[in-house]
Amino acid sequence: MSFEGILGQERAVARLRKALKSDRLSHAYLFYGPNGTGKKLAALQFTKGLYCTAATADACDACTTCRKIASRNHPDVLLIEPEGASIRIEAIRMIQNRLSYKPYESQRTTIIIDGCELLTLPAAHALLKTLEEPPGNALLLLLAGRKEALPLTIISRCQLLPFQPLAPQHIASILSQRGVDAGTAGAAASLVEGSLDAFAETEPAQILAKRQAAYTLLSDALDVKDPSLFSKARQFAGKREQCEELLRWLELLCRDMVVLKVAPAAPLYNQDMRVELNELAHPLTHERLLDTCDLIEQLRHYLAMNVNPQLVFERLLVHLQQTLSGAVAARPA
Ligand SMILES: [Zn+2]
Repeated sequence: MSFEGILGQERAVARLRKALKSDRLSHAYLFYGPNGTGKKLAALQFTKGLYCTAATADACDACTTCRKIASRNHPDVLLIEPEGASIRIEAIRMIQNRLSYKPYESQRTTIIIDGCELLTLPAAHALLKTLEEPPGNALLLLLAGRKEALPLTIISRCQLLPFQPLAPQHIASILSQRGVDAGTAGAAASLVEGSLDAFAETEPAQILAKRQAAYTLLSDALDVKDPSLFSKARQFAGKREQCEELLRWLELLCRDMVVLKVAPAAPLYNQDMRVELNELAHPLTHERLLDTCDLIEQLRHYLAMNVNPQLVFERLLVHLQQTLSGAVAARPA
C-alpha cells in the first residue's frame, strides 16, 4: 500500500508527502482527529516513506526496510500503544532510554505513540521533557483522538496534522476492500459517523442486523394490534448493555424520521431505509417524533443512572403506543 491507499485524508497526506520530499522534518508531529480515520496507517506509511530504500516521497512496500516496519520488526521504529486505558510513565521512560542510544540500522529513531489522549499526567510531563529537548536523530509521531485532551505545552511543540471523519463512500470502499459485499458495505458505511472503529470488533452485517432488530421493534411498537409487545420489555430485564444499544439505534431511526418530515431530501444515517422509514413516519407528526427522540435521550440517561432496563423499556413502549393512538385519533375520517 502507498499513500494512495489512505482514503479521505487528502490534506494530511499532501503535507506528509511534502515533508518527505523536502526532507526537512520537524522533531514531532501530532496527528489528531476521530479514531478509526487512518491516523496510525498514515503514521506507519510516513515512517516507511522516510526509511524506504527504493521509493522517494512514498514507500515501495517491497524492500526489506518497508517490510520490517510493516511487521513492527524494525529496530529503529517503535510503536507505543495504550495498555488498558492509559499510557503510563514507564512507557515514556522506555522511550527516553531508547532515544539515549544511536539508531541501529538507520539515521533516525522514530517513536509512534498511539492514543496520546490516554497519557497519564506524569507520563505527559515526562513526554514534554523529551519534546523540549529531543535528540537530533529522534522523530516523534503522536496520535490522538482528541487534541483537547493533551496539555497545550505538548501541542505547541508539534506540527499539527488534522484528520477528518471519513465520508461514507470512503468507508464503503475500505469495507469492500476487506471483502464485504457492496450492499452491506454501503448500508453500514453511513451508520458509523465517519469512523471505522465500529468495525474493529463487529462485522458490518452484525451492525445491520442490530439496526434491523431496532427497526422491527419500532414498527411493532407502532402497531397497536400487537399484543405480545409488553412481553418484549421483560426480555431486557438485567440486560443494560443491550438495552442501551437498542435505544441508540431507535434514536437514530427516529432522528431520520424527523429529517424525512422537515427536510425530505437531506441525507440520512439510515440512507438505505429511506422508503421504509418514510412509510413508518407517514401517520406521525414531526412534533411527536421529536418528543420520541427526546424521550429516548432521557431514557438513555436514566439507564446510565442505573434505572432498571425493563422499566426503561416499558416507559418507551407506552410512549410509542400513545404516539400512534394520538396519530390515529388525529387522522381525518
Ligand atoms: Zn521500501
